[in-house]
Amino acid sequence: MSAGTRVLVLNAGSSSVKYQLIDMLDGSRPAAGLAERIGEPDGRLVHTPDGKERRERRQVFPDHAAALRAVAEELDADGLGLDSPELVAVGHRVVHGGRRFTEPTLITDEVLAEVRRLVPLAPLHNPANISGIEVARGLRPDLPQVAVFDTAFHATVPEYAARYAIDRAVADEHLVRRYGFHGTSHRYVSQATARLLGRDPAELNVIVLHLGNGASASAVAGGVCVETSMGLTPLEGLVMGTRSGDIDAGVVFHLHRVGGLTVDEIDALLNRRSGLLGLCGDNDMREVLRRSQEGDAAAALAFDAYVHRLRKYLGAYCAVLGRVDAVVFTAGVGENAAPVREAACTGLDALGIAVDPELNAVRSGEPRIISAAHSRVAVAVVPTDEELEIAQQAFTLVQTAVR
Ligand code: ADP
Repeated sequence: MSAGTRVLVLNAGSSSVKYQLIDMLDGSRPAAGLAERIGEPDGRLVHTPDGKERRERRQVFPDHAAALRAVAEELDADGLGLDSPELVAVGHRVVHGGRRFTEPTLITDEVLAEVRRLVPLAPLHNPANISGIEVARGLRPDLPQVAVFDTAFHATVPEYAARYAIDRAVADEHLVRRYGFHGTSHRYVSQATARLLGRDPAELNVIVLHLGNGASASAVAGGVCVETSMGLTPLEGLVMGTRSGDIDAGVVFHLHRVGGLTVDEIDALLNRRSGLLGLCGDNDMREVLRRSQEGDAAAALAFDAYVHRLRKYLGAYCAVLGRVDAVVFTAGVGENAAPVREAACTGLDALGIAVDPELNAVRSGEPRIISAAHSRVAVAVVPTDEELEIAQQAFTLVQTAVR
């Protein structure tokens, strides 16, 4: 058995690869980085070894394989290469696990084939994840590779919440149901919230609001996810940076039949040109806040629409859970945008939710409680750490597998 304690976490996106090397002994991160603009003429890799100066390379990466080879070279240069004995596994973020993958999974040829079969459910994400796995396996065929799925944490959502109310046979034939995404973050944050409150996760009911560029809410009862806002695809639910979130499916028919848009055009409209961007021309909440503070009406409308949807979900998930112990904000907007947190929680005393304005205004990278002393529900800000969660799950799996 290897005595190593390090896991390399790879998050291969459609045109980028993010990576972190994490030591599970002490949680340290000997190296991290990002290769981006894969397939473009101006590729770039930023590598940040712990305690040393960050290095930047400009290089064309025709594909993920080229980018990952460059990542491996940078790691090698610091003696942290894929062949180092400390490395025990590579943990891969895989977006869609369908109904089959509800746990972290050791990658075999058969698992890879199944992830490939799920490509129609995540056409932008799974192919990139698969490339990452293939390249890493090629570089170190003997090293365990573990897939950690974005959908997995939501597999416990009950059937009545996961099904769309459409013809069951049609839904089943085309695998149409609500899968949910950001699961690794929802899981990490709900557990970190229990630690912050000094409570057993099994006793805690939490609403997690993951507000990044993509955004989703989940209701977690005793550590088990019972509802989440994203669906068959990451389009459903909250208003996001560039996605509309919930929308009457009739809008799609109307835009096609009356507006003459093709299905691909509507797909691009709803996923890439909607949300904050569609409402005011900016998808970054920092810009939306700045403009709306300066009196810009479109930005103010975008902010109000964003917050209104968030409050609807907050109320709905209070009803889903019955008893709520904590509401927790995470990801770029959730961790940093005090005005969003304040507006989302204002006037909710009847639900037992009240934020302390001073605590809410504090800027910090630490998990923290921001609720008022009289708030029955704890309101918290907990930075997410999907890489650490992936590393932990991969490490645990590898350790159990060799025992
Ligand atoms: P991703 O979904 O890409 O992982 P993140 O969780 O990093 O995204 O969130 C990115 C978003 O967070 C940005 O688009 C921006 O809107 C928002 N954000 C980051 N910093 C701040 C800030 N200080 N104030 C408000 N919003 C912020």
